[in-house]
Order: sequence, then structure tokens, then C-alpha cells
Amino acid sequence: MIFLELEKLNRIIRNCKKCELWKTRTNAVPGEGPQDARIMFVGMAPGRTEDIEGRPFVGPAGKFLNKLLESTGIKRSEVFLTSPLKCFPPRNRKPLPKEIEACKPYLLKQIEIIRPQIIILLGEVALETLLKRKDVSNVRGKPIEKDGIIYFPTYHPAAGMRFPKIREKLLNDFMKLKKIIQKLQLS
Ligand code: SF4
Repeated sequence: MIFLELEKLNRIIRNCKKCELWKTRTNAVPGEGPQDARIMFVGMAPGRTEDIEGRPFVGPAGKFLNKLLESTGIKRSEVFLTSPLKCFPPRNRKPLPKEIEACKPYLLKQIEIIRPQIIILLGEVALETLLKRKDVSNVRGKPIEKDGIIYFPTYHPAAGMRFPKIREKLLNDFMKLKKIIQKLQLS
């Protein structure tokens, strides 16, 4: 049942024309992972590689995320990966507020269907979209409970790849995440 609901949603997303990005995308990227995932990761938007393959986190930032997941013992195959924006913004620019507004209902629907126990917010766009906050540096590494779901904000892996100081903080946050996941017995 959940599978059918997600499949139906994926089909809608792949054919969506609610914002201008449908004109320049190769593939929409709804997200991937088990329908009963207890852990969800929310990034920013598909990059060029994701756009070509139609899959989330398969470019350089995705490879770095894989390493972060390995460091926590979380299997990628056990988590659901997605983003607030499902289509590639040209030249990898930051999503526009109107694009996020148009696309956000898909993310909310995914959360409603999957009902993960914990959602890791990777970067400011995910944090702002789901918790209406912009201060990643203040809230990172600290679980926030809302509507029965634990939110765990941290930096986006792409920022960790670019800036050594952020990389260090990201690694620390994932160690904290590991403890939370172990405590909740989610992996
Ligand atoms: S970004 Fe979202 S709202 Fe815009 S066309 Fe793609 S799926 Fe639709």
C-alpha cells in the first residue's frame, strides 16, 4: 500500500510542471529508499549527475555522503534520500523560494507516507523548508523534536567537501547522529 502510494507520487513528480525547472531538467529526482525507512535524509536539490541519472546523491556530494554514512554504520540501502527540490536548478544555483514553495508539498507527502522516526536536514535549504529556520550553525548537531519526528540539522555534504572546517563539524555531527540512531535502535 505504502509502496503504491510512493510509486504514484513518484510518477506525479516525474511529470510535474509546477515550476519552470521542468523545462531544463533531464529527469526529476523524487528520491529513493525503502518505503518503510525509519531514517530520512533531506538535501537541497539534484545536481547535474542526479539530473542525468534520475537518482539522488549519486554525484560527488553523494559519494561524500556515502562515506559519512559508512562512518556511522548506517547502510545507504536502509535510508530514504530526497530533497525539497526535485529538479536540477541550472548551473547548480541555489533553489529560488518560489521553486521550493511549488515543490515542498511533494516532500511533505513523502514524509506523510513514510513517517520516518528521524529526518537529517542537510544544510540551510532543508532546515528552512521543514523547520523555517536558517541558522544551521546554531542548531546543527542537536536533535529537534516536532510532531513526533526527530529532526537532526547539519551541513550539506557539498559544503563539507569545499570547506575543511565544515567537514570537521559534519564528521562530528555524524558521530552524534550515530549515537542517536543506536539509542533509537534504528540501524
Ligand atoms: S522542481 Fe518540483 S515543482 Fe518544479 S517542476 Fe520539478 S517537481 Fe515540479
